[in-house]
Amino acid sequence: MPSKKTAKKAKKVASKRTPKAAKYVYSFGKRTNGNAKMKNLLGGKGANLAEMARIGLPVPGGFTITTDVCVEYYKNGRIYPAALKGQIAAAIKLCEKESGKKFGDQRNPLLFSVRSGARESMPGMMDTILNLGLNDKTVEALKVKSGNGRFAYDCYRRFVQMYGDVVMGVQSRTENEPDPFEHALHLVKKEVGVTVDSDLTEEDNKEVIKRFQKLIKDRTGGAFPQDVQKQLDGAVSAVFNSWENERAILYRQKYGIPAEWGTAVNVQLMVFGNLGDTSATGVAFTRDPANGENVFYGEYLINAQGEDVVAGVRTPFPIAQLADDMPKSHKELSVVRKKLEKHFGDVQDFEFTIEDGKLYMLQTRNGKRTGLAAVRIAVEMTKQRLMTQQTAVTKIPADQISSLLVPIFDTNAIKKAKLMATGLPAGPGAASGKIVFNAADAEKEVAFGNSVVLCREETSPEDLRGMIASDGILTSRGGVSSHAALVARQMGKVCICGASGIHIDYTSATLTAGKIVLKEGDSISIDGTTGEIFAGSVATAPSEVSQVLAGKMKAEKSYTYQMFNQIMKWSDKYRTMGVRTNADSPEQSKSAVSMGAEGIGLCRTEHMFFEGDRISYMREMILAPSAAARKAALKKLLPFQRKDFNGLFKAMEGRPVTIRFLDPPLHEFLPHDDASRRELADHLGVSPEIVSDRVRALHEENPMLGHRGCRLGISYPEITEMQARAVFEAAAQVLKLKSKIKVKPEIMIPLVGFKDELDNQVAIVHRVAVEVQKAKGVKIDYLVGTMLEVPRACVTSAEIAKTAQFFSFGTNDLTQTALGMSRDDAGSFLGKYKDLDIIPQNPFATLDQEGVGSLVKQGVDGGKFTNPDIKLGICGEHGGDPASIKFCHNAGLSYVSCSPNRVPVARLAAAQAAIEAEA
Ligand code: PEP
Ligand code: MG
Repeated sequence: MPSKKTAKKAKKVASKRTPKAAKYVYSFGKRTNGNAKMKNLLGGKGANLAEMARIGLPVPGGFTITTDVCVEYYKNGRIYPAALKGQIAAAIKLCEKESGKKFGDQRNPLLFSVRSGARESMPGMMDTILNLGLNDKTVEALKVKSGNGRFAYDCYRRFVQMYGDVVMGVQSRTENEPDPFEHALHLVKKEVGVTVDSDLTEEDNKEVIKRFQKLIKDRTGGAFPQDVQKQLDGAVSAVFNSWENERAILYRQKYGIPAEWGTAVNVQLMVFGNLGDTSATGVAFTRDPANGENVFYGEYLINAQGEDVVAGVRTPFPIAQLADDMPKSHKELSVVRKKLEKHFGDVQDFEFTIEDGKLYMLQTRNGKRTGLAAVRIAVEMTKQRLMTQQTAVTKIPADQISSLLVPIFDTNAIKKAKLMATGLPAGPGAASGKIVFNAADAEKEVAFGNSVVLCREETSPEDLRGMIASDGILTSRGGVSSHAALVARQMGKVCICGASGIHIDYTSATLTAGKIVLKEGDSISIDGTTGEIFAGSVATAPSEVSQVLAGKMKAEKSYTYQMFNQIMKWSDKYRTMGVRTNADSPEQSKSAVSMGAEGIGLCRTEHMFFEGDRISYMREMILAPSAAARKAALKKLLPFQRKDFNGLFKAMEGRPVTIRFLDPPLHEFLPHDDASRRELADHLGVSPEIVSDRVRALHEENPMLGHRGCRLGISYPEITEMQARAVFEAAAQVLKLKSKIKVKPEIMIPLVGFKDELDNQVAIVHRVAVEVQKAKGVKIDYLVGTMLEVPRACVTSAEIAKTAQFFSFGTNDLTQTALGMSRDDAGSFLGKYKDLDIIPQNPFATLDQEGVGSLVKQGVDGGKFTNPDIKLGICGEHGGDPASIKFCHNAGLSYVSCSPNRVPVARLAAAQAAIEAEA
């Protein structure tokens, strides 16, 4: 006889020779070998079922077939790993032991539910089968066991229908054909004179089942399987196959869930909520997911199975009523509610069933919630010590915080609204008003007290007055960093851009989407958060937070504001990056400061010339035929510019103000139509032909890559000189004020690709600085830096940093130039690119981290190599996008700059990035 030691060794050797098969099946219930941390392998549902069982909640036993099986199934041409069959058989044995029932037994049959469960929940996207294990024989056993024939055949009827549909594929053959099972059921109900399914007797259900089975035979040529193992095999495959159904694929694309993740399959003992009036089924949230209030929130149906609650055929009761209907179960559920929150540390959304007075938990997951609820829940759960401050900050999707700042559609009104098209969500919030097609009409209507939505093919500076007057802006062309989008966001206007599904015809004054034709003066409603466009007027509700920030409501009066403010304070405590704003006026700056901006990261000086007569002086300067004429026009612009900078410095009260010198692609400023050309000709005192000739002479095939940025200042140094003078003279004025406001101008030269370009411009700036400081007798604390917005600048940043005192990444142009994609035209093909997963996100909204991000990193590295303390920011639209902000944190930027309304989003996202990086 071998010694114990030798036997152990032999066993070890043997196990080396025949490697142990991977574990594909995890049980839960009395014997649980999974937990909540195993979401990747067990899917969200499976992992949480295991966790609930582990902490002693009443979970019906069962097992999870792992996501690895799904991955292998697809990799091997829909073939399962060999070891799976045996592991499932063993798991079924455990269930039999736990329940005292037997799968397929004709006296005490075990029934299963079979459900999908991906890593992230994909509600309703994949298939579910209930009551599996019933056949013509076991149904009789269920009848005897339950003493309720109606119940037994009701279960069987539901099972045959689900199985026939999901596994055997018996469905409507055309869009207009009714669901064949529902149709057959409807006929029987009509014949026996009942309206609801639960009124069908045992005999009625038998009749329906007979017809269902015939239907399956007729349609598929095969019989509904009586063999329970075959039923289970079919159901498991159907769930795995549903990972690749059209709905699931679409959902994955929308929410960025990788196909490689696969789904798990959960097989669980059936418990019955349809066993009579002592049974029920329901869904609940541990808090109200709409407003975050700490109340038990949910609904249930007595004598029903899970799908009845969601199907909406019967109206469920609010959970509070359960306290009267089933007081014991209500009490138990209230204990479960507390235990779930305490254990999972977040609001839970759970499903339960009460079978003959006994409570069972069927699922739990973190509850989806509105932005408002997310903020309230995070703050209140932290105060209850159910979360830490850091967790509270990371629990709120950063984008959602902006929903507290903008008007939103009334939730009931929007359900009834008629969706006509969708465009790119460019300025969040909800706006409803009369359609106007030009700025003058917008102002006219608003003067009459009407709200308007300005609808344009695209916007230009001429539209500015109309944009200011309007509640919302809608364009059929242009991307999220187009003129309309930039300006709208800075003004905090609701905006949808590039809605290619609508056609705007200025001549007939109509806006068309498919068959819907709206005329000037008709009502339209736009949701700039989702990009949805609705025909007609939809009621909106104002945001309390913005009313408090604007000083129109007292902070003590708004609990929502207090919650918001708390989250902002916690965010500021944890973030390490600064947050600045892109603003061109004192109003925008003040609004941004009220939301927490710590400086201006980008003042686009050309925007300062959009208003009133200034655009004419600006055009006069651009169209000037000679240096002398240009100087004359610049002289007129200087006082405006000085006054504007003065206003900005005062509004920012000593915070840094980054002033970007003239940059515009000239086409943005040229008069586009005859009327504005005539107007300009009048202003200049020349003939319209002269203006037209000059516009023609300045025409560029590709103005975005043309005579713009520092190229303008190099060609016409007098422009840079005028701007520098305006900055320093304004700084001197403010420094001399009695109020002793500090001034920190940071002058930024745009579109630099060569160090020599920057040197050329910096020399002018320093010269003027010396002149003004001497003349005014003041010392001005200023910096001169540059934007990195063309690839060459990023690649040669070490060289450029020898001159630049700071860098700010202009990722709008950097994306445009790195990808070779026009920021104004990419909308026409990006949709397709997104569908095909070529570029999953709009790169002008969310930074292309692999491509543009690499250039940013090179820019950072080069800058720091030359000057380890160089200040690094971002001022492209990506500065307000949470994913891009995270990238910026990790890339080592000092601050992000974004439009005023995005400042709270950026504060929160920057904190989340810092907390995540520390973890
Ligand atoms: C940029 O290019 O990212 C930028 C901020 O400048 P603008 O959008 O004005 O071109
Ligand atoms: Mg730019």
